[in-house]
This record gives sequence, C-alpha cells and structure tokens, in this order.
Amino acid sequence: MRVHLVNPSDTSFGTAVITPRWLYVLAAATPASFGDPEICDETLEHLDPLSVAPGDVVGIGIHTGNALRGYKLGRIARERGATVIFGGIHSTLYPEEALAHGGAHSVIQGDGDQAWGEALNDCRNGTPKRIYQGGRVSADQFKSARWDLLPPNRYMWASVQTVRGCPKHCSFCSVWRTDGQKPRQRASDRVIEEIVQLRRLGYRFIALADDNFYPVSLTDMRLAERQNNHQRLAELKAIRNERFELMARLARLPKDMVFFTQITMEAAEDPLFLEAMRAAKIMGALVGVEAVTPEGLKSVYKDFNCSGEELVSRLQQFRNHGIHILGSFIFGLPSDRQETFEATLNLAHRSGLTFAQFVMLTPFPGTVDFEQWEKAQPEDARVQGFPLTRYWLIPPEVRPKMFMPHPIMGSEEMRQRTQRVWDRFYSMKSIWKRSRCAHTLRSRLAFILISKLYRQMYASTGIATDSARRSKASAWARWIARPCRGLFIADPMPDLQIPS
Ligand code: SF4
Repeated sequence: MRVHLVNPSDTSFGTAVITPRWLYVLAAATPASFGDPEICDETLEHLDPLSVAPGDVVGIGIHTGNALRGYKLGRIARERGATVIFGGIHSTLYPEEALAHGGAHSVIQGDGDQAWGEALNDCRNGTPKRIYQGGRVSADQFKSARWDLLPPNRYMWASVQTVRGCPKHCSFCSVWRTDGQKPRQRASDRVIEEIVQLRRLGYRFIALADDNFYPVSLTDMRLAERQNNHQRLAELKAIRNERFELMARLARLPKDMVFFTQITMEAAEDPLFLEAMRAAKIMGALVGVEAVTPEGLKSVYKDFNCSGEELVSRLQQFRNHGIHILGSFIFGLPSDRQETFEATLNLAHRSGLTFAQFVMLTPFPGTVDFEQWEKAQPEDARVQGFPLTRYWLIPPEVRPKMFMPHPIMGSEEMRQRTQRVWDRFYSMKSIWKRSRCAHTLRSRLAFILISKLYRQMYASTGIATDSARRSKASAWARWIARPCRGLFIADPMPDLQIPS
C-alpha cells in the first residue's frame, strides 16, 4: 500500500516557479509506517495512472482553479482500486462535490497537518470516514515540510510558511474565512530550520507563503490604545515582536538569500518594519492594490488602502526601502470605467512597481462576493447542464470568462482591455526601463527573462481566450522556464549551520 500526493494541473511546464508547499507538508504528516509518499506535482508533469496500484491511497489537494482536473484524477485513481482522499480549500468549502464528482472516499475539511495521518490510519484499518474535520490547528502543530523529498532541478523558488490567517476581510478573498482572522504564527526556530535546510540544497530564493506577512498594523495598535484595550494591545505587540524576532534571524542567514512575501499596503507607513524587512533580505512583496479609486476600494471592503497620489507615494515607500513590489490590480469592479484601464497602467508605471498583475473580478467560493453573486443568479442558469454557480465544473472550452456583469462594459471588452494593459506593462520597452533596478547587464537580462516568463505563464492560464494563443504561451513558458531556473539556484551549502 503506497501513499500518493497529487497536485493537479491542466498545464505542465517541466519546471515550476514555486514549490507547492502543501505536498511536502502532508508528506511530513504521513505516519512513518507508510513509508515516504509518492509526490506528483502536475505543474511539472502529469500523473501516470499506472503508478497507482489497487490498495494505494491517493491524496489530492484542490483549490477552485484546479478542482475539475483534480476530480478527473480522483475518478482515475478510484477506478484503479485506490482509496481517494480530497483536501484543500475547495474541498473544505464543497466536501460533497469531491464525493460526487471526484471519486472521493473521504474528504478532509480544514488543515491537514493532523487529520491526514488519522485518515491514513483509518484507510489501513479499512474504516475511512466520509468527512474529517481538520479544523484550524494551532501554530505549534503546523508540520515542517519534508524538503528531503524534493525532486532535483525542478523548482526555482522554495516556499516556507511563517503565518496563517489574515485579520482583514476583503470581499473577494476567502483567506480570512477559511484560515481565520486570528494570525497563527510559527515559532521562528521552525521557520529558520526549514530555510537552512533549503539553502543547504541550493535554494536561495524563498517565498514566505503567508496570507499576510504584516498581520498587525500601526493603525490596529493605535486603535487598541485609544480604546484602552490593554489586553488587545498586549496581544498585538506580542505578534509584532515575533515578526521582528523572525526578521532579525532571517538577517543572519547567508547574504545571497532573497525572500519574497505578501503584505498589505499599510506596511508602507511603518518604516521600522520596512527597515527590518530590508535587513532580513525580504526584497520583494506582493501588495494587493486592487483599485486606484476610493469607490473601487470601498466596493471590495479594502478602504484601508490609499488611492490617487497618496497611493503612488505609499508604493514608492517600499522601493525607498529596497523592497520590490508586485502590485496586484482587479478589473471589473462596478466603479470601473473605460478610462480606469489607462489610469491603472499609468499608476503602475509611476509608482515604481517592479512587477504587476491585472486580474478580472471573479467570484471565488468562500468569499463575500461569491455569496452575493450566487444569490443573484437565476436557478435555471446552466451551461452544458452544470449550474452557473458551480462554474468550475463547466468544461473550460465553454466556460464563461466573466461572471459578474459590469454596468457599462461587456465581458469581451473587459477582457480585451485587460489584455492590452498586460501587453503594455510587459512590452519590451517597459521591461527594459524597469530593468534599471538591476545593477549588472547579466541581472538586467535575467530581469527581462523573468518578466517575460511571468507574463507568459499567466497568459497561458488566465486571460487568453483563444486556445492557439494559450498553447503558444504555454510552450514558450516551458521553453524559457528551464534557463530561468539557473538564474535562481545557487551552489548547495551542505554544511550550513542554523545561526545561533
Ligand atoms: S486579500 Fe489579503 S489583506 Fe485581504 S483578506 Fe485576503 S489575505 Fe487579507
């Protein structure tokens, strides 16, 4: 009886950017008596069904974007006589769907750190339950990933988690509802151990795969102070101090290491935090800018962000502290107008963003937006027999590209305008200009390659509608990904010790 862990993906690139952390965390959660699990990340290569034998257990983790592929794999594995267990954020939200469409015997809802081992033991005893409640385990129960199982020469970046949960409540995001609003921070010892292990293997670029690396803002603390809420203030200070402790320890790791994370824009008004990030070699961060107008921000419950010129100067603050920003923007908000696209592009250029992504507003399950959208759909709205409100089950070739009708723009117009913004932000001229942030010709060329790779990987899975363009982009990304990997990987440091 073998245990398999599968990360489903329709598109495989042979080389991937970031290690899918959950595979290696569940590998660590697999009881030793089962041996090392077989790990299959389909962003590298598709699962070979013949590798699954009767009596095996196949664990499949899905989010909404890869649920359909995951269900197909689940049915294949079940037909081959395996016991199939689903997990991941989408299964947490729709456990019955995995049982009905994915051939699942069991579904784990919530964190798998503890529940996965329990489910495996039940499978061995022939008593798998339909549903396991993994819940939200405390930070001291998070498993450290089994990086010793990483395949060689496949990934550019590794991923380590330092905190789960986010105190915000953005309407398009499910994180705060699934992972909770109370930040669960790992002890810095565990985080540093994992990072050192990865650097020993040659990974010097690490994504801190957190929901929000900046869980306590200065505004939160000021508010607690004003309310004389001493207990809350003490809690916030403790969380903040732990962040600083972690960053101080990251600063003592080898100089060639580079970290990337996700934070909210509020960090820009916290120079102490930004300085600690710089010292910790956290050189890049994804910041959800979302919209450039106050109306747009209000509509996504993100009015803690700034707009207009203040937004430009906030974003520039990060650059002033040596932190490169990947700005994330949403198109399709009700307040968007034709001129919003140009204004957004203009702002992205002016604020000194190093990278940017422009996504179309999509109602993702588990979000406030989804609930409102779902209620507004007519009951008989179906495509090929599948309810529109379960759009991820609709075959991709006939699946609508936009679900939230816009008051003045049609879906094709929206798509084309979004595509044009991507094309212009990632035109050779613009990339060359931005590449000035690199100091040598070699690193400028690397910057260009990476910008193009990022653009193509997104185009192949996101906004391009015609399949020729998608497969061309995918082939191009596959071709360019391999040499790109060489730019990120360093010589292994097998003797690297954990800084005392
Ligand atoms: S979008 Fe970011 S800030 Fe907003 S709830 Fe999600 S993780 Fe938190």
